[in-house]
Amino acid sequence: MTALVFYSNFDEPEAWEAALKAQMPELDFRRGGDPSGVVAALVWAPPPGFFAPYKDLRLVVNLGAGVDSLVRRDDLPPLPISRLNDAGMVQLMASYVTHAVTHYARDFHLMERNRLKGVWEYIHPRALSSHRVSVMGLGELGGAAASALAGMGFTVTGWARSAKSIAGVRCLSGAEGFRTALGEADTVVLMLPLTPQTTGVIDAAAFAAMKRGVNLVNVGRSRLVDEPALIEALRSGQVAEATLDVFDEEPLPYAHPFWGMENVRITPHIASITVPESAAVDVAESIRRVLRGEPPLHQVDATRGY
Ligand code: NDP
Repeated sequence: MTALVFYSNFDEPEAWEAALKAQMPELDFRRGGDPSGVVAALVWAPPPGFFAPYKDLRLVVNLGAGVDSLVRRDDLPPLPISRLNDAGMVQLMASYVTHAVTHYARDFHLMERNRLKGVWEYIHPRALSSHRVSVMGLGELGGAAASALAGMGFTVTGWARSAKSIAGVRCLSGAEGFRTALGEADTVVLMLPLTPQTTGVIDAAAFAAMKRGVNLVNVGRSRLVDEPALIEALRSGQVAEATLDVFDEEPLPYAHPFWGMENVRITPHIASITVPESAAVDVAESIRRVLRGEPPLHQVDATRGY
């Protein structure tokens, strides 16, 4: 019998249990109780000390793609960590990003405001290829979003730590690539993980390096961005529009200035979620692999932070 413990305040245990048992009928799916024999933990933000009773644990699976809150814990057992990555999550993220970029590229933000004022203003559509998008972070989700944007006809540049090759996407890396990607974009999409290296990477200097009137889409993590610098840039017009899905404090407090800014679109951290039916295939395979002494799928490098 292979036992797994599940913990999340966001994800549905019943859906995960059904999806995992479809892949591993012998799985003993637990939500607490006896810790003995539990070899895998499938968790999102478990409370401090959560892992201590699980002496037989061989694998920690993060219930999501962003592992920043997991890898910075000081009670993490020295075990392989795996993140989720499934086709459903990739599709949801690509749909959010292509929608957000399209919103600006097609001037829908202007027409929405006109609609509220009862104004009919013909705004001549521009070719999508004339809209330059820079995707910062070309990982499992970022790379797929960049590809989807390129497939729609946008002119897409991507930036990552290492050199990449993605059809239809000009891929850059390094400090020079960072400046180029930011400086050319009509819309900048943030899809970096939050690590010590990426914290605050979009600061006042980064905003100054962007074209005046740039649009920003942040689906990565809020702390990639220096928030006071963003607010200043949105007020001055250096950043014309922003679509934000991630915030320092969630729910975003009622008194936060973003709520009152006409040029900020707010979504409640819904850009993407894992879809149990598709993610469970890889979770089951990761469990089988670690039990055979092999590394799991989608292994996270805890020292690198993603
Ligand atoms: P991955 O971990 O697969 O990829 C991260 C990418 O960022 C890689 O291309 C990596 O470069 C690049 N990167 C990391 N550090 C640096 C650095 N210091 N300088 C330059 N590039 C860097 O992430 P995903 O694409 O799967 O997801 C991105 C983020 O999206 C997640 O970390 C998470 O925070 C967020 N997310 C948000 C959701 C939401 O609903 N809003 C849902 C899911 C995820 P390289 O390829 O060279 O290693």
